[in-house]
Amino acid sequence: MIMKHKEVIIGIGVGLIGYMAIIGIDILPFVFFISFATALYFISGGQLIKVKSVSIGENKKENSISFDDIGGQEVAKKELCEALDFIRCSDKIKAMGIRPLKGILLCGPPGTGKTLLAKAAAQYTNSAFFSASGSEFVEMYVGVGAKRVRQLFNQARQTAKKLNKRSAVIFIDEIEVLGGKRGQNHSHQEHDQTLNELLVQMDGISSDEDIKILVIGATNRSDMLDSALMRPGRFDRVVKVDLPDKKGRAHILRLHTRNKPLAKDVDIEYIAKDTFGFSGAQLESVANEAAILAMRENSKVITSVHFKNAIEKVMMGEKLDRFPSADEKKRIAVHESGHALVGELIFPNSVASVNVASRSNALGYVRNTQDDDMFLYTLDYLKGKISVSLAGAIAEDILLGSRSTGASSDFQHASDLARHIVFSGMSELGIISPEELPKNKLHEAISSILSNIEKNTMEMLKNNIDILKLIADELLDKETLSGDELRALISKKAA
Ligand code: ATP
Repeated sequence: MIMKHKEVIIGIGVGLIGYMAIIGIDILPFVFFISFATALYFISGGQLIKVKSVSIGENKKENSISFDDIGGQEVAKKELCEALDFIRCSDKIKAMGIRPLKGILLCGPPGTGKTLLAKAAAQYTNSAFFSASGSEFVEMYVGVGAKRVRQLFNQARQTAKKLNKRSAVIFIDEIEVLGGKRGQNHSHQEHDQTLNELLVQMDGISSDEDIKILVIGATNRSDMLDSALMRPGRFDRVVKVDLPDKKGRAHILRLHTRNKPLAKDVDIEYIAKDTFGFSGAQLESVANEAAILAMRENSKVITSVHFKNAIEKVMMGEKLDRFPSADEKKRIAVHESGHALVGELIFPNSVASVNVASRSNALGYVRNTQDDDMFLYTLDYLKGKISVSLAGAIAEDILLGSRSTGASSDFQHASDLARHIVFSGMSELGIISPEELPKNKLHEAISSILSNIEKNTMEMLKNNIDILKLIADELLDKETLSGDELRALISKKAA
């Protein structure tokens, strides 16, 4: 609509100037004035004439999200509710002389439900909800960002009044863009002014106001925030929003499958176990992709196979039409068989599937599963993981007589784990100070760990060379083996 208005005005303007030229009026001053105004307009990014309003996400449907619609995150929900009760009982807190809570900071990885929590907070406190992203305040021109911050707070107050609400929740996503440490930014004068304005606005929030404002910020990088923003009286509650554990994942999956027709063989607990490390957003995507796969197959219900393929798609990306040569395919099958066999020998029942189908950057991959979420790793566990990582290249060595570049990311992963062992004081160097450790000593310690494990892994695979060959052949034939099929092959050969 705005575009259309612009075009009409430009059309009339050009027509008018043309007409003036025809009837003999000197158009040069007009042309000069219009060029000057246009240049100014573009230099200012359109800001001189009208300050672009912050895109505020405010609608009733979004506000209907409640804490019941958020899976897992029980601790975050509890902490948030405790803080929000200050707003719900504002008369009580005023009587006690308690200052209102002005800001809550939600910290955690992407897609864990921070925006959902903010929306649920607005619903819980019966507030108007406004959302903006930190990057929307970033401008080159001094004063524009600050003006947008003022605009956002004013609009929140006015709209809440119109909606007959007593409070408004302003949600600022990626707050580190707007609230990063002062003096460090390229255009730091503008950045500092914008942040200062946010601090001023938050300081201006008082318990006497008709409309109570609560600012909820979300970030993955709380370490980048300016200390002034974190001091008490501004964001005085920090709520951690972590990746969901197994129970949380099952809860989120149940929420996102409640409107979907599931086949009887779908076991949500099993899918939760299979999706270790997934965020809420990835789990939502798994449920959605599974439904899409079912629809493509004209299936009336979503089966466990659809879920299995959806997990692989979300984890590894879409299957690609990349066709390696026959030799390359054989090498990929041998490589993945090495990972899978050593994985099963060291961590029984850990393999969910082995594949030689190209997805994203991988030519083949082994997907693992894990019984319980882990928060601590022992030396044996880390060594086992290194062994699994090295096993692909070693299998190539044993069956094909040479290695390939396909193992470079495995080696990177293995040396990261070895570094972890050294820094955790579990290597032959004993407890060390990472900052004081010379680089060559670190390199020697990592090399020694890796070569010992390499020797053991080589021995393990040579001792099971027949099983390795069998798995590689089956994989080459079928392109994918489930964890159960793999275990059946191992026990058939071992018997
Ligand atoms: P970002 O940091 O990238 O902005 P975020 O933490 O704000 O991400 P959301 O936008 O809240 O994440 O979540 C994205 C989507 O993922 C939601 O719309 C929802 O479908 C799903 N989701 C994420 N976490 C949960 C959860 N705990 N329960 C249910 N759904 C979730």
